[in-house]
Amino acid sequence: MTRKTAPGIHETNLDRRRLLAAGALAPLALGATRALAAPEAHGTPLAGNFPIPDLPGEKMRWAIVGLGNFAVGEVIPGMIDAQHSRMTSFVSGSPGKQADLGARYGVSRFYNYENYDQIANDPEIDCVYIVLPVGLHAEYTIRALEAGKHVLCEKPMANTSAECDAMIAAAKANNRQLGVAYRVHFEPNNAQAKRMIANGDIGDIRFVSCDHGFNASLDWPPHVWRLQKDLAGGGSMYDIGIYGLNTSLMMLGDEMPVDVSATYSYPRDDVRFLEVEGGIDFRLRMAGGITVSGSSSYCWSPYISSQRYVGSKASIFMKPATTYDRNAIVIEGNGPTREIGAGNPLTQFQNQIDAFSLAAKANTPHRTPGEMGLRDIRIIEALYRSADNGGIPVKL
Ligand code: NDP
Repeated sequence: MTRKTAPGIHETNLDRRRLLAAGALAPLALGATRALAAPEAHGTPLAGNFPIPDLPGEKMRWAIVGLGNFAVGEVIPGMIDAQHSRMTSFVSGSPGKQADLGARYGVSRFYNYENYDQIANDPEIDCVYIVLPVGLHAEYTIRALEAGKHVLCEKPMANTSAECDAMIAAAKANNRQLGVAYRVHFEPNNAQAKRMIANGDIGDIRFVSCDHGFNASLDWPPHVWRLQKDLAGGGSMYDIGIYGLNTSLMMLGDEMPVDVSATYSYPRDDVRFLEVEGGIDFRLRMAGGITVSGSSSYCWSPYISSQRYVGSKASIFMKPATTYDRNAIVIEGNGPTREIGAGNPLTQFQNQIDAFSLAAKANTPHRTPGEMGLRDIRIIEALYRSADNGGIPVKL
């Protein structure tokens, strides 16, 4: 088996040791799962608008790679709530976390980053969920594909479009599914908004805006690697702006913009932003004349997640738009302002996992494939090219 190593991987492993040495990767607060945020969420049936057909035969068996904040808080609870998927394995650099989580969730097959390739010989793993820092996505995705496993990789797909190309090529060469975990596609309120837009309920779309941001902290380990270019790929646009980008394109039918432009927007003397950008304002010009105007930032309080779809008859305002548990649709115009709740947002995690299991089992394309992740990294690379050159439009 040929192992393809992601560029920069040696540096990123060193970074991990640096963080460990500094005590930055302290044991997780394992109690801080999403069950605390919304106890009613567990065991909630799938939202009616996501009919997932019965999977013939066994549930698909999953390995979770990287037991960090998001994996413990959202991915693992989503796995527990899933109907067609079950967790069999953890891949982690921390035996302590594996033991704690294994005892809690009945998982006993453990791998680390050194013996990871041995998953090839493990018949109890069909799918691998990569929940590592972005700079490690390409290497660990390709190794899993070469081990014969299907891979769902967290967003953003990788540091560069060249890495995304290599991941897609590995999926093709090994005849395995590769998905990017754009959970919003599986979130009931966003799915409802998408249906309303497609049905023409707000008329023709004239303008889209999307704003996403939070305040990044050098004191919290999951934010520390997000400020290091080799582990994060880029700054706020990679991590949080990508929600606005991907969700807007989903609502507009997933067409590629004609051209894009951007300017950086963050305090240049802020020590958090020595390697990655702290904020960016961007515009996507779509065929047909629609503009998507977006922004993302690592300097905002509170956490902001909002999208507005302005139509010729009415507008849909989603605020919050892309959170784990609180998304809502407000319709303004063409009658009184009204709010619609289309289902429990927390079901997006199990919906996504089950949809991927089904696609992998049936060998049918996943709804958010590697090609979509590549498209978004290409767009972000073009946004950076524009911002580096004074905001000039860059054609795609
Ligand atoms: P964390 O830092 O909390 O977790 C990352 C985990 O990766 C660590 O706990 C560690 O797990 C493992 N790891 C391996 N090598 C390194 C390294 N060099 N430095 C740091 N960690 C390392 O990050 P998050 O959970 O916030 O993010 C993980 C992934 O999930 C990212 O791709 C992120 O973009 C994505 N994400 C997606 C969200 C979404 O809504 N879709 C939300 C939040 C994050 P271990 O100790 O087990 O080895």
